Amino acid sequence: MTPRPTSFPPLRGIVPPYLLRHLAHTSEPQASAALDTLTRDQRQRRYRAAGRGPSARTLMPAPEAPSRLISSAGNVERLPGKKVRDEGQPATGDAAVDEAYDGFGATWALFHDVFGRNSIDGSGMRLLGTVHYGEAYQNAFWNGTRMVFGDGDGEIFGRFTASLDVIGHELTHGVVEHTAALVYSGQSGALNESLADVFGILVAQYRLRQTATEADWLIGGDLLLPGVKGVGLRNMLNPGTAYDDPRLGKDPQPATMADYVQTTADNGGVHYNSGIPNRAFALVATTLGGYAWERAGQIWYDALTGAKIGRDCDFATFAALTQAAATARFGKDSADARAVADAWQTVGVTGASGSAKGTGPGDTPLAVGVERSGGIAGRTVSRTATLAELPKSERRAWQGLLTGDTLPKLAADARNYPDTFVYHVTCAEVVYEVPELSLPARLKKLLDQFLGGAR
Ligand SMILES: [Zn+2]
Repeated sequence: MTPRPTSFPPLRGIVPPYLLRHLAHTSEPQASAALDTLTRDQRQRRYRAAGRGPSARTLMPAPEAPSRLISSAGNVERLPGKKVRDEGQPATGDAAVDEAYDGFGATWALFHDVFGRNSIDGSGMRLLGTVHYGEAYQNAFWNGTRMVFGDGDGEIFGRFTASLDVIGHELTHGVVEHTAALVYSGQSGALNESLADVFGILVAQYRLRQTATEADWLIGGDLLLPGVKGVGLRNMLNPGTAYDDPRLGKDPQPATMADYVQTTADNGGVHYNSGIPNRAFALVATTLGGYAWERAGQIWYDALTGAKIGRDCDFATFAALTQAAATARFGKDSADARAVADAWQTVGVTGASGSAKGTGPGDTPLAVGVERSGGIAGRTVSRTATLAELPKSERRAWQGLLTGDTLPKLAADARNYPDTFVYHVTCAEVVYEVPELSLPARLKKLLDQFLGGAR
């Protein structure tokens, strides 16, 4: 019973069961009722544990509800930050806090009402978020425990809570981790990214009660600030067309397998190649029409949570899983099964044109180099320089890196989390890959300083 908008468009035709469940929720008084229920639920559990009170069998099951906690990092890069809004508490007036709180509620509602899933883990897991992370921080990510949002730099990106689909995207990384647990690299990583976009966009469409043909299919449509030549981070229906801006570059997403990007950046191009399965989903949804979560979304959810998906699932395997899911749910000769087959063929995952073309890794830099890639925007910034070009203080720090064992150690221990930045540091012609969260603060500062104007 999250607080929900009360101004939905009027319902048309037969009211489906998930909407009835939803209406049952919204008919109760909003925030305070949610808090009451949670308190009651906890009290009941305590009673049961103590062997007092009515038996579990005679109790009415408490309705499921989200449990959210939003913290603020106060513009430093430290987690979790200070608690600012707990479940059931009123709006704070801080846009980032309230957008995260409402966005978590909307995401919980999609998974619960449509797919019958209670939170990220299916067992009511708390939804933890931190906003105001870092200074002018241009990203949002999932760190395995919580969703983290920066305020943006104020020139290109606004605050990362501004787009509901981005909040849904981050939370879906949690769902993927608790279901298929797709390896965050190469094709399984791009699938992980794509699924986060798919359910992220469904969160927004469900909240707006928008049909597949009414929807804009843009991820991050509210993130880019005025003056940036672009409409969002990604266009799921037309990958590669979201932006073309002197500061941001051109949207690098391929729309078919013929343009599949082979790269060592971005965990093997996870934010690039996700365009291919994204487009397959958007094609299925727009071909079928109506609400995308009812049919296309259900097929994708079945494939994601089915028994057959492996951690290293590639595009072709996922295509086969969605085909099987469409057949199982809607029948072999259904429009749904046909739409799924056609979509995967159009994007070249199945059929004749399914060959991958490589662009190869970039040139080896001269002396030292830093490349920062990944992030939900999938944007790569890089710079190479000779030591002589660097200011004295920086040069000394780099000389320490060239001779010490810091980088090899960090690269060996590193673990990547969805949407966190990845740093490739080139020293003496060896490239070390270190995820942002593994970097000690002082080293991260040195690398960001080196990238300097490239930001
Ligand atoms: Zn992501």
